[in-house]
Amino acid sequence: MKKSIAYYTLTTFGKDLNADFASVFKGRSCDEAEMTDANMSEVQGKLVYSCIGCGAHYDIYDFVYTCPECRSLLKIENLNFDRYRDIPPERWKEIFDSRKNTTLPELSGIFRFHELILPIVPLEDIIYLGEGQTPIVKANPELSDWAGAPFLVKNDGLNPSASFKDRGMASATSFLNHAIRARNLDDVLGICASTGDTSAAAALYLSYLPKAKVKAVVLLPKGKVTPAQLSQPLGSGAQVIEMPGVFDDCMRVVEELAQNYHVFLLNSKNPVRILGQKSYAYEVAQQLSWDTGDLVVVVPIGNAGNITAIMEGFIDLHELGIIRALPTILGVQSHHADPITRWRATGTYTPLKVSPSVAQAAMIGDPVSFPKVKKLVENHYNDLFHVVSVTETEIMEGMLTSNRHGHVVCTQGGESVAGLKKALEEGIVKKTSRFVLDSTSHQLKFALFQQMYFEDAFGPEYGIVTKDCLKSKPVSLDASAHTIAQYLGLKKKG
Ligand SMILES: *Cc1c(COP(=O)(O)O)cnc(C)c1O
Ligand SMILES: [Zn+2]
Repeated sequence: MKKSIAYYTLTTFGKDLNADFASVFKGRSCDEAEMTDANMSEVQGKLVYSCIGCGAHYDIYDFVYTCPECRSLLKIENLNFDRYRDIPPERWKEIFDSRKNTTLPELSGIFRFHELILPIVPLEDIIYLGEGQTPIVKANPELSDWAGAPFLVKNDGLNPSASFKDRGMASATSFLNHAIRARNLDDVLGICASTGDTSAAAALYLSYLPKAKVKAVVLLPKGKVTPAQLSQPLGSGAQVIEMPGVFDDCMRVVEELAQNYHVFLLNSKNPVRILGQKSYAYEVAQQLSWDTGDLVVVVPIGNAGNITAIMEGFIDLHELGIIRALPTILGVQSHHADPITRWRATGTYTPLKVSPSVAQAAMIGDPVSFPKVKKLVENHYNDLFHVVSVTETEIMEGMLTSNRHGHVVCTQGGESVAGLKKALEEGIVKKTSRFVLDSTSHQLKFALFQQMYFEDAFGPEYGIVTKDCLKSKPVSLDASAHTIAQYLGLKKKG
């Protein structure tokens, strides 16, 4: 008989606290002989889509992505969230910490924080492909000196499809899987527009669902994703459609499809994606032993779904008293695609036409989630939100320098490092703060740009000035120990 502290805790709460509370956590009795980790307390959240414009609510099973009344973005609200406040912060920490040792795959990833993500989805419907719980790696002294302060990299490139997008796909496809069973759906078409990684993640997660019920289609801007990223949805068996234009053009098409046809949208405009992506914030807090004092979290911004989710995640923890203060959020953009930096600097938001960027996954001129960012900043983050723009050269130097010091960051991760360096130089953040940088995908996805740097193959539109000291290339030598020893200048033994 195995007892899980987590469920033990939740179920005892059902007894300790008022009847209202017991109805939220309908766990089995902890005396039950069958008590195992699988005794997931049936946390019965009451989730609705809530319009960020007019405040209207819609049924969670309605599959709407913008408010039918006023066309604003939707977020998902747990109308029973207040009942969570009856649980003392220390208990929450115990619950989440106890799950570190779970043997249940379903609770091993982002659903360690089940109550805060999708409490309406029971264990049996959760899709877990190995996402989440990504490592935090400390920058070594040389790299810290280069950037201007010690920092930590949370490497979301170590997710199954090699980017953070897997977090949101795990929540979106778990919800879809649940809806298919609970509402007896079939013939579902999962669809997304992508800068590359969303489609890789969507195709991977959808491929796990029953083929008879769900098909996957992804829309990509032709020639604007790396070969590695194109190979991913193809390998997962999705229908890939290439279109002329950039991501913003694909997004417009997919929005029209979602508005007028029966499809399940897998872009971060679908707030079910945001739920899963909040797990990044929960994990950062837990990995820092729930101490977010003096913390700055550095995040590259593209469509602004990730930064929205991270800000919301920290708010959840703060509202439950699990963390004592919200961290500072430092967004980073390429100066070739920086509408949010400009908004922060001038107070005016204007969509931009983007120029080519090596941080291609963030090369977006009109971020869909901007209205959410604006609200979060106005209502919660105020002085705790900054954005800096960096040049393409700075992004490449951030990536190459990090990877020469033990990291495997992508160009967007390089953007985070470059953004930290710049924010320190400009005095936007204090050297004495603690920094966690989001490396949003794996180095290998963007190997193409590394190679272009080494070969000086960038066109003038990038404005990249290369440094020889950051270039690497193989040398060809004869298969002879003597030749190689000579080349390396080795000293002979004895
Ligand atoms: C999607 C993506 C981003 C940008 O995230 P948004 O949620 O669009 O702001 C950054 N880096 C990588 C690797 C991505 O795939
Ligand atoms: Zn509305």
